Amino acid sequence: MFKRVLIANRGEIALRVIRACRELGIETVAVFSEADRGAAYLELADLSICIGSARSSDSYLKVDRIISACEICGVDAVHPGYGFLSENAHFADVCKSCNYEFIGPTAEAMSLLGDKNSARAIAIKAGVECVPGSDGLIKSESDAIRFADKVGFPVLIKASAGGGGRGMRVAKDRDQLATAINQASQEAQNAFGNGAIYLEKYIELPRHVEVQIIADNFGNVVHLWERDCSMQRRHQKLIEESPAPKLKQQTRESMCDAAVKLIKTAGYTNAGTVEFLVDADERFYFIEMNARIQVEHPVTEFITGIDLIKAQILVAAGEQLPFKQSDIKQTGHAIECRINAEDPEHNFRPCPGKIEKLIIPGGFGVRFDSHVYAGYTVSPTYDSMVGKLIVHQPTRKEAINSMRRCLRELVVEGIKTSVPLQQKIIESNEFQSGKFDTLFIERKFMKK
Ligand code: ADP
Repeated sequence: MFKRVLIANRGEIALRVIRACRELGIETVAVFSEADRGAAYLELADLSICIGSARSSDSYLKVDRIISACEICGVDAVHPGYGFLSENAHFADVCKSCNYEFIGPTAEAMSLLGDKNSARAIAIKAGVECVPGSDGLIKSESDAIRFADKVGFPVLIKASAGGGGRGMRVAKDRDQLATAINQASQEAQNAFGNGAIYLEKYIELPRHVEVQIIADNFGNVVHLWERDCSMQRRHQKLIEESPAPKLKQQTRESMCDAAVKLIKTAGYTNAGTVEFLVDADERFYFIEMNARIQVEHPVTEFITGIDLIKAQILVAAGEQLPFKQSDIKQTGHAIECRINAEDPEHNFRPCPGKIEKLIIPGGFGVRFDSHVYAGYTVSPTYDSMVGKLIVHQPTRKEAINSMRRCLRELVVEGIKTSVPLQQKIIESNEFQSGKFDTLFIERKFMKK
């Protein structure tokens, strides 16, 4: 087992990994930027080391600084968390060649599946249905027109390197297509340094359902069931839950089987998520693979009783998965709300600033994963998520009641948060009846 792990991340997920390592008896090294200097979670690591200024490109994305930190602190593995370098195959490769185990997939599997366009090719090879899409990348406007005419409008233009909803544009007709292509490509170039795009048929009113998987280095692959993440604004998830409401058991099992097949075909190891869109007839289509641990992993931890971060560490250390598929049961119902420092009343604009008062809910089946506290200043430089509130109860109805109670108990003063919107969503008939799709929030709560 590893003696010392460096966490190449910050905030909530850095703390989550520190905690898992502590319980496994592994020492931790936290890295931080100038903006995070003095944050309380850094004290919980055995060592912490500054890797640069506030801008991520000068710190959390700076491969050479992180590698130097590994060397100075004598670690034997790196956990990348989510975001930042977590899906950067070059980083995974550099870690490995410097003899620091990368707690995630291999660089090869990551580049194969991390790129949306090549992931589609693997899915097709595995016999998993994809959203009808262009064969490969779009090179010209006429390519795009030909494809769109074939599958019919609307179409979705997607960045091959995309993530977080960036580099994605819908085109309803030919007139919109040229502009949408240019915008998507430009946005992807700015965000990911890669402007490559491809086209997909736009699925009307879909649900977003994803399957958590974990695989070891001995060919054992298991799924940990699904999560419904349809509650999104601008393609970013706000509420996640498991099991997916109103999904037929047969569909659930076919999706989980499809995810395992895809992972086996790709020779993928460690934790990952296979994302699908489900249409009104419960046909499901592979959209992308997330080659890392995800924000919403606690939902799965609650319903399976498996600590995914510990499982990631065990697998990376070369151990076999300590469970079989038949051991993994979906028990009860879990719901997560991502608490963001943003103002839902003003188009979700970020609301960084000092948290003056913080009261965290607790009680039966309640988990609050966060690095913040009263007196903490939310930096404008990074992601606006300040914490994750997760509840687990025997039934969906009880989970909804628990979440309702917890959102009432949660007090975050000094900054605006997504909580008032999440309260409205939880109260809505659509959420309560489990009949919603990925555009629900935009239709019901966002000004045009
Ligand atoms: P990202 O990596 O940027 O998050 P995804 O491919 O995961 O992008 O898609 C994010 C969201 O965008 C999905 O959950 C869904 O709401 C929407 N989406 C993606 N592909 C399609 C599609 N073909 N049709 C309709 N909606 C889509």
